[in-house]
Amino acid sequence: MDSAGGRGARARRETRPAAPRGRGAGKGAARSPARGHVAGECPSGAATLRAPRTDGPPARGGRPARRAPAARELPAGAAAGGAEALPTPRSRAPAARAPAAPRSVPTVPDGALAAPACRPPPAADALRLREVLSRLSLTRGDVSEAATLVNRVIAHLVQAIRGKDGCFSSIERQSAGSYYERVKISEPNEFDIMLVMPVERIQLDESDDTGAYYYVSFKRTPKEKGFLKFLDEDGKLSAFKMLQTLREIIKQEVKNIKDVEVTVARKKVGSPAITLQIKNPPSEISVDIILTLEAQHSWPLSTQGGLKIEQWLGTKVKRDMRFRSLYLVAKQNKREKVLRGNTWRLSFSHIEKDMINNHGNSKTCCESDGPKCCRKGCLKLLKYLLEQLKMKHPKELEKFCSYHVKTAFFHSCVTWPNDSEWHLGDLDHCFQQCLEFFVGCLQKSQLTHFFIPQYNLLSLEDKARHHFLSRKISHELNNGFPVFHENY
Ligand SMILES: [Zn+2]
Repeated sequence: MDSAGGRGARARRETRPAAPRGRGAGKGAARSPARGHVAGECPSGAATLRAPRTDGPPARGGRPARRAPAARELPAGAAAGGAEALPTPRSRAPAARAPAAPRSVPTVPDGALAAPACRPPPAADALRLREVLSRLSLTRGDVSEAATLVNRVIAHLVQAIRGKDGCFSSIERQSAGSYYERVKISEPNEFDIMLVMPVERIQLDESDDTGAYYYVSFKRTPKEKGFLKFLDEDGKLSAFKMLQTLREIIKQEVKNIKDVEVTVARKKVGSPAITLQIKNPPSEISVDIILTLEAQHSWPLSTQGGLKIEQWLGTKVKRDMRFRSLYLVAKQNKREKVLRGNTWRLSFSHIEKDMINNHGNSKTCCESDGPKCCRKGCLKLLKYLLEQLKMKHPKELEKFCSYHVKTAFFHSCVTWPNDSEWHLGDLDHCFQQCLEFFVGCLQKSQLTHFFIPQYNLLSLEDKARHHFLSRKISHELNNGFPVFHENY
C-alpha cells in the first residue's frame, strides 16, 4: 500500500493514464446531471444532512441475511466455472413469501410493487448478467485510446502550470475514479482528472453540519508566500481564486499544444471544475479538471465511526487508511446562502480506489492464483443499472449519481464481509442482495456516507424521487433486468 501519499507513490501516479468518469447522457458541453461532480462523487445538491448518528450503515438490523449455510458449500471450482453450477438465487425475503417470486423485493410504500415475475429461469438470468458484464468490458479498448490522448494533454498542462505560478509548483495528477478502480463501464469520452496540491499546516473549520464541507485556513503563514493571494478577507483559502488563476494559466497554455485541438469550456455557475474539450474526430473528449488539496492532516472528527471495515478488510487496513493524507476538493456548498467559493469538500476517492482494488477479506481474493469473487462485477452492474435507468428517466433521476450506488456497494461489502459470500458463481444472488440493500436505503431515504456517518446522501425532501427509483429497481429485479437489453 502506498504510504500517506508519499513522494514515491506520486511519482508513480504520473505515469498512469487518465481517469474517465461515469457516463452522462450528453456529449461535449451538454453535461448530464450525473456530471460536473468530483471524481466519482455526487453533486452536492443531491445530498443533505443530517441523519441520526448510527453506528453502521443503514438497513443493518443485526446481521442481515447471510447466505444459507448450505449454499456456501458450492465447490470453488464450480463457482469459478460456468453458469450451469449456479445455485438457485436466494432471497432475503421472509420465508412466507410465495416461492414463485423468489426475487421480489419489499413492497414500496405506495404499493406499486413490480409486476408479477415473467422472466427466464434464474440460471438464464445469471448467464445474461455475465453477458452484460462482458459487453461492458468491451469498451475498455476505446477508453484506453482516449486516455492516451488525455494523458498527453494533461502532462503538457501540468508541466506548464508548475512553471507559471510558484503556488502550483508542486501540483500533481492524482489517479482516481472508475478507470483506476477498473469498474469504468461506459462513455470513453468523459474523464475526471484531479490536480492535487500539497498544502501544509492547514486548519479545517466545518462549514455546515454535514461533516463533509470545510473552510481551509493556514495555521501559520505558508512557506509559499504566493498562497497569500488566494486567501479571502477572513483568511480562508478561496477555491474560487485558485481556480481563476489555474483557469487563466490553462487557457493560455492550451494554445501551445500544437498537435491536438484543445479548448477550455465556458465556466459553469456553481461548478468548481475546469472543463477541457479535446477534439478527437469524429468525437470530442471532455475532461473535468478538479482542483484538490492534499494535507498531512488527521481525518476530521466527522469521520469517526465511519469506514467500518474491521470485519471486511481488517483493523490494520483501516488504521493504515486513516493515516493516509486528507484530500479536499474545491466544491461549492450549495446550501450556503451567499456563494463565496471558499468551501472544500472531503474526498476519499484514493481510499475508495484501494478498497475496490483490494477488496478481499482474504488477501488472495481475485489475485491470479486466488479464488475469484463477484464484488467488482456487482459494482459494475449497479453502476450500469443506474446509468441505464437515468437514460430512460433523465428528469426523475437527475439527482442520482454513481456515488450513491458505490456507497451502497461499500455498505454491502461491510454487511457481507466474507469472500465466501461473494462467490463468482453467485453473481446473480449477490447482485440481487446489493440491490435490495440499495432499495432499502431508498425507501427510508437514508444512505449514510461511507466515511462520514452523520452525512445522509439521500435528502429527505427528495423522498418522492427515492421512491421512484426504488420502484424502477424493483421492477428490474422482478423482471430479469430488461433495461440491460434496451438501448438509449
Ligand atoms: Zn475478489
